[in-house]
Amino acid sequence: MLDHAQNRPDLPFEIARRRTFAIISHPDAGKTTLTEKFLLFGGAIQMAGQVRAKGEARRTRSDFMQMEKDRGISVSASAMSFDFKTYRFNLVDTPGHSDFSEDTYRTLTAVDAAVMVIDGAKGVESQTQKLFEVCRLRDLPILTFCNKMDRESRDTFDIIDEIQENLAIDITPASWPIGMGREFVGCYDMLNDRLELMDRADRNKVAASIEINGLDDPKLDQHLPAPLVAKLREEVEMARELLPGLDRQAVLEGHMSPIWFGSAINSFGVKELMEGIAAYGPQPQPQSAEPRQIAPEEDKVAGFVFKVQANMDPKHRDRVAFLRMASGHFKRGMKLTHVRSKKPMTVTNPVLFLASDRELADEAWAGDIIGIPNHGQLRIGDTLTEGEALRVTGIPSFAPELLQTARAGDPLKSKHLEKALMQFAEEGAAKVFKPVFGSGFIVGVVGALQFEVLASRIELEYGLPVRFEPSQFTSARWAQGDRVALDAFIKANQAHIAHDNDGDVVYLTRLQWDIDRIERDFPDINLTATKEMM
Ligand code: GDP
Repeated sequence: MLDHAQNRPDLPFEIARRRTFAIISHPDAGKTTLTEKFLLFGGAIQMAGQVRAKGEARRTRSDFMQMEKDRGISVSASAMSFDFKTYRFNLVDTPGHSDFSEDTYRTLTAVDAAVMVIDGAKGVESQTQKLFEVCRLRDLPILTFCNKMDRESRDTFDIIDEIQENLAIDITPASWPIGMGREFVGCYDMLNDRLELMDRADRNKVAASIEINGLDDPKLDQHLPAPLVAKLREEVEMARELLPGLDRQAVLEGHMSPIWFGSAINSFGVKELMEGIAAYGPQPQPQSAEPRQIAPEEDKVAGFVFKVQANMDPKHRDRVAFLRMASGHFKRGMKLTHVRSKKPMTVTNPVLFLASDRELADEAWAGDIIGIPNHGQLRIGDTLTEGEALRVTGIPSFAPELLQTARAGDPLKSKHLEKALMQFAEEGAAKVFKPVFGSGFIVGVVGALQFEVLASRIELEYGLPVRFEPSQFTSARWAQGDRVALDAFIKANQAHIAHDNDGDVVYLTRLQWDIDRIERDFPDINLTATKEMM
């Protein structure tokens, strides 16, 4: 296990200024709007969809938007980088659809923190809760943004209580809302003693900041109607008494989350949140790996693939592997070692998702995300280094919870279907098992929606109609053991055995009873629900 996150004054400036995070939220809470405002304040104009890939003309963002629409999932802006003051923010997108997917989990392995967006009227919703639990598994620091304060929302104390209770985390108010709904005028910045007033006339305008000398400052009375000032003073006093104060270390350890209130659509509260990410968010953290941990400040470059996106352009069978830089200073054209195959790999065309006028950034530092176009060599979980045989750990592959049999609409196209399925398996979009007995493929996913997404992608990208049918199996477990034990196990259970796309042995069944029986009858065989990607 890694030590808890910490920020260190001794990190090189380029690394210390980086903040790599994802946004987690329930659909409709305002993630997209907040992202747009981040980019607006960060001065970023480019997104992944605009970035030039190998040898191709530049794609426009709208092409990607069309694909996103067709697929119903978020494929484009996988990572966005932008500067804010002296900081470099790397925002990694979590897939937008509501099914929990492995993709989401793995995205969260590539960030050092998460921004949790909640709707001020709805509080903690189901998807927020699920994503939060995933963050908790890694003790990821979480900063909270309570959005839509321009609408009727709940009482501030109620919102905070609900988060504390549902998510079992301490909440400390970084700002305090003044008024609500139509009467919402802005926030009192509790960390900096400032009054931030919202401009309803101009949605893209940054709010005016008025320095205040504590809550007794008569300046408050000049800017706010008397009843609002009275309520603010009373509430903030209560909040300071009842709620914990900001403890930076507790935030870094994931036990405490500061909350900012605002309205993304009105650009309100966003700047304060960004200042919060800069001040309280973690710097690039050490990465767990075998045989040793990787520290961000190491001179040598190391990074790992947390996502692969195939067929970003259906006309070209290229893929982009997204690499989280774990250490060092990467320069374009660098020769790295692909640790799994021990082969050298010259990274000449990294896809970079950079802000402002720089199209092709020529370098990247620990904390950054780069996209590497390739023809399938790079897989999820792969590590790239300058030669050392390091393997990043902690990027799991889950046993799918839903299994179906895939059949080509045209039986003559089965081979094509196999190719397409293998590609998606490598991309991490699904598990594909080839049974030892019988024909066809068994496809496993974690969320039901993924079947639809797969079917439409296979049709769109490969021109292959495909049917998913119920499978006789409902559970899959990876089987591990020494050669002799494994052979005996396979022989005795042939009707239940399949191989995944890496050739590893998988046990398929529809009964938990079977799994228990195997554990009893084959003590040398280990059945697992996750497999570490390697
Ligand atoms: P996502 O599904 O989380 O990405 O949410 P979106 O950013 O697409 O926002 C969902 C809806 O809420 C859209 O109609 C937005 O215009 C709206 N919205 C976002 N932020 C605010 C806000 O601060 N106030 C109000 N009233 N509406 C908002």
